Amino acid sequence: MSERPTPQPGILKIAPYVPGRAAASGARPGIKLSANESPLGASPKAIEAYRTFADKLEIYPEGSSRELRSALGEVHGLDPDRIVAGAGSDELLHLLAQTYIGDGDEAVMSQYGFMVYPIVTQAAGGTPVMAPETDYCADVDALIGAVTDKTKIVFLANPNNPTGSYLNADALARLHAGIPANVLMVVDSAYAEYVTARDYTVGIDLVDRTENVVMVRTFSKMGLAGLRIGWLYGPEHVVDALNRIRGPFNLSTPAQAAGAAAARDVAFTKALNAHNALWRDWLTQKLNSNRVRALPSQGNFVLALFQDAETAASANAALLEEGLVVREMGGYGIGNGLRISIGSANAMEAVADCLARFMENK
Ligand SMILES: *Cc1c(COP(=O)(O)O)cnc(C)c1O
Repeated sequence: MSERPTPQPGILKIAPYVPGRAAASGARPGIKLSANESPLGASPKAIEAYRTFADKLEIYPEGSSRELRSALGEVHGLDPDRIVAGAGSDELLHLLAQTYIGDGDEAVMSQYGFMVYPIVTQAAGGTPVMAPETDYCADVDALIGAVTDKTKIVFLANPNNPTGSYLNADALARLHAGIPANVLMVVDSAYAEYVTARDYTVGIDLVDRTENVVMVRTFSKMGLAGLRIGWLYGPEHVVDALNRIRGPFNLSTPAQAAGAAAARDVAFTKALNAHNALWRDWLTQKLNSNRVRALPSQGNFVLALFQDAETAASANAALLEEGLVVREMGGYGIGNGLRISIGSANAMEAVADCLARFMENK
């Protein structure tokens, strides 16, 4: 018998998630471009709604996030009863894994997919199975080919973090068609608000015409990362299962209120998309013209690829020297990459300037 409590098998094999580095502390405050937060802060309407609840903190929240689900239903044209809100989409990804994955089961994900998928899979006792990508883009055939009779979930971030690549509507439909009906397909559309590609689909159509697809969304990338608000839209039977194990008060009252206000502030979301599209494309071009390969991105970040890991590390040091904090990619197996979140115009100019000077000496 063990002399102390022992975690379930697999738990200690999980590599903890490493969040984006905080803005440098000390004399010189840095600019945080390491966590894909909003380039324009939070919706003023969301901030106002949040403040309204400062003097009601002694009251439990409404347990089903009814107001938030109703706002989301209105804005996206969805049935609120088929929406589940979570404390960030992280919580929802954990709940999905807990609900559908058990010991010995597998979950399929893309090689450079979001790092939370292997964590939630292993936490539930399952094994993550990585499908190789083709030039930093999820490969539909590889994903389908990785499915076995042990597979319970296929996770896909669309667009993907950290690569910024996406599968268009046809490719997404083809992926779904290749997955057995008993396997849940999780379409994580965390960056939907930033997409500009016309052949993109957020996943609602797929949820509506099938019984094994859920779409997961978040407010984190649109200005409310600190409040932890995620949501999903899925078939009734999935929603029912999740609601049985979800914490009964998983979203705080201020989070629900701010989320509802942010969802309804469509003008703010549009402004975010426009600012991001402008500076994302500008930065991509600047980097490419300076011999840094910037992958085309549909998110609020750009993945910059250098000739090798050593060059990426020196480029990162040069950025840090100027207080520009971006995300190193070694943990994702992309050692020669730096992920740069889109920020203010000034921040983007500073990044482009710094990397242009850096590459001059290469
Ligand atoms: C940032 C991100 C999320 C959001 O996580 P939250 O828990 O809602 O903050 C989900 N999926 C992907 C792919 C992300 O990049």
